[in-house]
Amino acid sequence: MKSSELLSILKQCHSNEPEFIQAVEEFWEDIAAVYDQSTVYQHLNLFDRLTNPDRVIQFRINWEDDQGNVQVNRGWRVQFNNALGPYKGGIRFHPSVNLSVLKFLGFEQIFKNALTGLPMGGGKGGSDFDPKGKSDAEIRRFCYAFMRELAPYIGADIDVPAGDIGVGGREINYMFAMYKTLNREFTGVLTGKTVGQGGSLIRTEATGFGLVYFLQNMLEAHHDGLMAKTVLVSGAGNVSLHAAQKCIELGAQVLTLSDSKGTLHLKHGFTLEQIEALKTYKAQDKRLKDFVGTSDDAEWIDGSRPWHIKADIALPCATQNEINGQDAQNLVNHGVKYVAEGANMPSDADAIAIFQSNGVIYAPGKASNAGGVAVSGLEMSQNSVRQYATFAVLDEQLKTIMTNIHDDCFNHGKQADGRIDYKKGANLAGFNKIAKAMVNYGI
Ligand code: GLU
Repeated sequence: MKSSELLSILKQCHSNEPEFIQAVEEFWEDIAAVYDQSTVYQHLNLFDRLTNPDRVIQFRINWEDDQGNVQVNRGWRVQFNNALGPYKGGIRFHPSVNLSVLKFLGFEQIFKNALTGLPMGGGKGGSDFDPKGKSDAEIRRFCYAFMRELAPYIGADIDVPAGDIGVGGREINYMFAMYKTLNREFTGVLTGKTVGQGGSLIRTEATGFGLVYFLQNMLEAHHDGLMAKTVLVSGAGNVSLHAAQKCIELGAQVLTLSDSKGTLHLKHGFTLEQIEALKTYKAQDKRLKDFVGTSDDAEWIDGSRPWHIKADIALPCATQNEINGQDAQNLVNHGVKYVAEGANMPSDADAIAIFQSNGVIYAPGKASNAGGVAVSGLEMSQNSVRQYATFAVLDEQLKTIMTNIHDDCFNHGKQADGRIDYKKGANLAGFNKIAKAMVNYGI
């Protein structure tokens, strides 16, 4: 069956999973021609096998709050595809988490992980638990309870979770503690552990730094550079702050950060000291808005995302669908020439179409934010050989991996008119690796 028919069947069957359908459509529009020409792919039914997870584990999490009440949340692990290695992907704790969101993230993760060139399959997990406003003890009890349910289904050579929105080093440590107690083993079953407990020195920085390394390659390929460029960054978490830090270190001016309440705009750009100060904000339970009083240059734009500010580059690092068609048009009108995604699927389909039809060079998250999972892959290796690599060595490895991903996307994304379609390049390069493995395995 041709992929357009398969896609419409998928859409009918999963009409209640809009994020998942969005991710599959965005991917398949670049793959359809290759798929439809290949009798082998059709014969092996790669479409259905790639768009249905190997399995979904769903569970209930009972945990006790500080008042002694039992709270109930839902948890999932989507083990999507292990053609290239153990299932690998983060765990997200956020009230917006549902099966559609985790399936979209797991689907993207298959190709992202393939692009890194490391032996990792794709998966994703999470819970609708909201960590905001919870005490440390509540987070700990929740993480223990979550892992009690998930532990039987994962393992260092089976499925290796990591962090994502709402899950950082602290949460990974709590989950790892429960896993190793239940299984009486100390292995690299989770990545993103803190340093000293098997964690990798550059894991916290990896997604943000990797994003900027990818951006550097993309600019160079277009005979351009980061020096003195103005950059809009959204979000205020790990990815955003480290992307901002690396942009500033490389001579760019970062004008914004944002959270769910609004945008922090510094007309002359953040300094490295200010980014360092913001890194401690989360730990102190402070909001981005609280920063305004600390600098004359700062303005707070309530209830707004950064997409209406004049700049050269946009790095959406917050969450899915944070840039719609109107936002994309605003960015184009305000002179943005490059967009590289730090979050997963932050631009919706309208936004991508507007970027591409207006000559904006656009890099999809599955390529440009792959630095996080790449360093997770390195953490798996160092755990297996029971060693630690230095920051400098890991940083070099990260740079090399991001350059390779860039070049792979560049080479697969060359268009007849000389333009580089990074989205198509990423999708084709990722698909080729997975398809080859699946063909080699047979059915
Ligand atoms: N959550 C990150 C991502 O979206 C990292 C996953 C990992 O390290 O396994 O790629």
